[in-house]
Amino acid sequence: MHATEPSQKVNLLGYSVEALVQWCALQGEKPFRAKQLAKWVHQCGQSDFSHMTDLAKVFRESLQEKAEVSVPGILADQASKDGTRKWLFDVGNGDAVETVFIPEERRGTLCVSSQAGCAVNCRFCSTGKQGFSRNLSTAEIVAQLWKANQLLKHPSSRSNPQERAVTNVVMMGMGEPLLNYDALLPALQLMLDDRAYGLSRRRVTVSTSGVVPFMDKLSQDCPVALAVSLHAPNDTLRDQLVPLNRKYPLKELLDACLRYLRYAPRDFVTFEYVMLDGVNDKPGHAQQLVELARNVPCKLNLIPFNPFPESGLLKSRREAIGQFANILLQAGVVTTVRKTRGDDIAAACGQLAGDVNDRTRVKERMEKVVSLDLLKRMK
Ligand code: SAH
Ligand code: SF4
Repeated sequence: MHATEPSQKVNLLGYSVEALVQWCALQGEKPFRAKQLAKWVHQCGQSDFSHMTDLAKVFRESLQEKAEVSVPGILADQASKDGTRKWLFDVGNGDAVETVFIPEERRGTLCVSSQAGCAVNCRFCSTGKQGFSRNLSTAEIVAQLWKANQLLKHPSSRSNPQERAVTNVVMMGMGEPLLNYDALLPALQLMLDDRAYGLSRRRVTVSTSGVVPFMDKLSQDCPVALAVSLHAPNDTLRDQLVPLNRKYPLKELLDACLRYLRYAPRDFVTFEYVMLDGVNDKPGHAQQLVELARNVPCKLNLIPFNPFPESGLLKSRREAIGQFANILLQAGVVTTVRKTRGDDIAAACGQLAGDVNDRTRVKERMEKVVSLDLLKRMK
């Protein structure tokens, strides 16, 4: 990360603490100033430099002139009855990305987007159907976490301004995080850094459709928990559902999972499996999955498909999911089925953001959303 042109302020949300130390050094400030600054920005959620009282006045003035804590505007903010909260961020040029907060008794999980649109184009995914627009910057990724913590601040946390609502992050919003690796890495580092968000590696999950070389890279650079979007137990079917499989077929993907596990903070990979009626939900598929799961320590998460009209796909029947899960459970594969909370959940994985140019429809759809639990599945 470099300081930008003189006319443009740098967005501090895009700087890892190390990068902040370097930037502060350029301003003639000592490393501990950068750490104070990181604490103000990420732990206290402060964006006004004049409130950073333990920084020298001259430094505060210089920050005011050269830096900012800038967050994309919010196009829509939806709170559901069960406490799930969803925001649509305006990232410019008609692009928008979603962030979802899922509160549970002892944790709060934030589902974060990494790209506007997605190039992988999985058959069942509306983000994919929108095509790829652009990578988010590190600042735009971190801004989702920064803003969520700010908006979710509970009154009881006022006595301790460092208590934050988000305890877990899953990179399961829009986009393929491993295809935006350069921006993702500093964002993950900030999430883990004790001087910033201080989340443990087990509480930060990257979900991927299987970008093998970057799985290896992540295992070396920043091994966090890993979720892999499997969706099919054989190459023929996976080629159709997840086109990236043609480049990195199952054998390569599973080998990469095993390599990853040597460095991972958890001793299993989470496999995600969207249940599609008549497509990948037959007992034969479950049996193939059992074989596959024998070779990789894993937990399987069965996700009822969130239908959208253009997909031409239907969600599996409840009995089919039950039968499928039973085959796996009986074979000793740890399997969970995500609960749906109603059929009016039309907001999974980018379905709102597609119409961002048509604000009225976004609003219309927003009003329909009772709850969004697409990603309530990372344990
Ligand atoms: N690109 C990454 C992360 C974002 S997608 C990945 O594919 O893993 C996050 C999860 O949502 C993936 O498991 C994806 O398969 C799932 N998903 C996408 N569209 C869905 C839909 N319509 N219904 C249910 N789950 C969906
Ligand atoms: Fe992209 Fe993930 Fe959607 Fe596939 S499921 S199109 S990889 S966001």
